[in-house]
Amino acid sequence: MSFVIPAWDLPSVPVAGTKDRFPVRRIWCVGRNYAAHIVEMGYDPNREEPFFFAKPADAIVQNGGVVPYPPQTKNLHYELEMVVALGKGGSNVKIENALDHVYGYGVGLDMTRRDLQFASRDRGRPWEMGKGWDHSAPCSAIVPAAKIGHPSKGVIKLAVNGQVKQNSDLGAMIWKVPEMISYLSALVALAPGDVIYSGTPDGVGPVVKGDKLMGEIEKIGTLNVTIG
Ligand code: MN
Repeated sequence: MSFVIPAWDLPSVPVAGTKDRFPVRRIWCVGRNYAAHIVEMGYDPNREEPFFFAKPADAIVQNGGVVPYPPQTKNLHYELEMVVALGKGGSNVKIENALDHVYGYGVGLDMTRRDLQFASRDRGRPWEMGKGWDHSAPCSAIVPAAKIGHPSKGVIKLAVNGQVKQNSDLGAMIWKVPEMISYLSALVALAPGDVIYSGTPDGVGPVVKGDKLMGEIEKIGTLNVTIG
């Protein structure tokens, strides 16, 4: 058996402190997971069921890389998020067992064409063209949970050109990591290599060509990208 067109490389990110890599299978994202961000987007911050959307795995951008300013937008936004990398799959995972499925954690950016997202939202259409475009998912190296445990608190902070724009704490997440894994696994069978972008705090905003973004999550590390 051979492929009729050249096969592509498996998307992956480094594992911090090693020469190994973490293969990325699918990118799941949690919507509206910090109350202050829900308010800034114009919604009611009362806790409702979590919801999810996806990006293609090859939307990953390596730490230190460039996000080319995407076409068809005039409002490109950053959303800094903790990335949960799954080492083990499963369906209907119980909340109390969910952390056993986590390999490690990373720092990610859910880059968003906000104008296209809102246009599709307002027409009741899918979000993909706002969310799942090329190079829309920068991600740092994954730090194994075996090294740092499972961070449920800690500063999550983003600076654009050295100026702090987002500054919150992981403890402000509405849906905690075990809950998001459990919920998502009731909707799809999770698989090793799946990563979950866990939602962004408030302070989202636009970036332009040449901007330098630095995201930082306590205990996990930093992520640097440039808008190209
Ligand atoms: Mn997001």
